[in-house]
Amino acid sequence: MPVTFRPELEPLRPYVPPKSWRMAAEGTDDKNYAKLTSNELAFGPLPEALAALTEVLPRANRYPDSHVSRLRGVIADANSGAAPANILVGNGSSEVLMNLLQLLPGSGEIVFPWPSFSLYPMICAVLGMAARPVSLTDKNELDADALLSAVTGETRAMILCNPNNPSGTYLSLDQVRDLADRLPDEVLLILDEAYVEFVDDPSYENSHTVALERENVVVARTFSKAHGLAGLRVGYGIAGNRIADYAERVRFPVSVNLAAQVAATASMLARDKVKARAEFVIAERNRLQAAFAAASLEFIPSQGNFIMVRFRAGDFEAAGVLVREGEALGYPGWSRVTVGDLWENDRVIGALGAATKVVEKGA
Ligand SMILES: *Cc1c(COP(=O)(O)O)cnc(C)c1O
Repeated sequence: MPVTFRPELEPLRPYVPPKSWRMAAEGTDDKNYAKLTSNELAFGPLPEALAALTEVLPRANRYPDSHVSRLRGVIADANSGAAPANILVGNGSSEVLMNLLQLLPGSGEIVFPWPSFSLYPMICAVLGMAARPVSLTDKNELDADALLSAVTGETRAMILCNPNNPSGTYLSLDQVRDLADRLPDEVLLILDEAYVEFVDDPSYENSHTVALERENVVVARTFSKAHGLAGLRVGYGIAGNRIADYAERVRFPVSVNLAAQVAATASMLARDKVKARAEFVIAERNRLQAAFAAASLEFIPSQGNFIMVRFRAGDFEAAGVLVREGEALGYPGWSRVTVGDLWENDRVIGALGAATKVVEKGA
């Protein structure tokens, strides 16, 4: 008789990484591709973060501060009204999300928009909770009314990815507040703001106050995107004291490693530079969207550092650009293109011309 495993794990399969990750792992990475699959920043960590890493690595034989005090302090300083006791930390915001769902009584339902981040249904399955995906509107918008209608007596949490990966669409801060106000108090609202730095709507600023003002709302953010630290794995959350206190109860004592702590701290202290980089990404996002429009391609106007466009991943790859295949994201025939550096974005635009020329030749 084999060991009995939990039946809800039966449908789960290991994560299938994008092609660029596989190539790097296999050492077949020939550096000839623009790697725009995973919404990473095109630039390395800030010099401030690199300096902090160099300084601390010789001490890697020691455990780091298990409480992550310094990083919590600088995150609190960067978010008005937040104290260190309001800050959650984790090994990537993935772990912050996992810790939050671990707080909830088992076997309930989790409501989230769909298509969205593939981690949500995965965590639900691992924790034995029922995923309740709610379709985006036919304009690919987050549908607050439909999300609220999906809430039942069994609903424990709603996860709102805002801006949403992969659609790039978002709810304004007023819409988020309205949704939070209409949600029953006993349902946890998790606002996944992995891409918040790329929102160019000034009224979205200080969105963390939605969480500080309410007992049932938490904001999750990451150093993996705008801060360019995806490889170090560090994320954070902002919430009222009660949520933050409970989240700390389930967190592994040393979940955030030494390198991640010091690099994230240095990067948050240099956040003006992070902001300047995000502004570059926003300008380049506009340039790519204009190019898609000029090529008469359907695309979804985005508030993230990525754009969904109706153009095949294979046609991008033929032009030396690796993107996330739309098939994997619920958009067959589309691609999700991460905004890269100038050179990479030029190549994306070049791919559109190359494919158009092939069509003309064939016609
Ligand atoms: C990239 C991303 C994250 C970040 O995950 P990390 O674990 O912090 O690297 C979180 N949520 C969404 C929707 C993402 O796309």
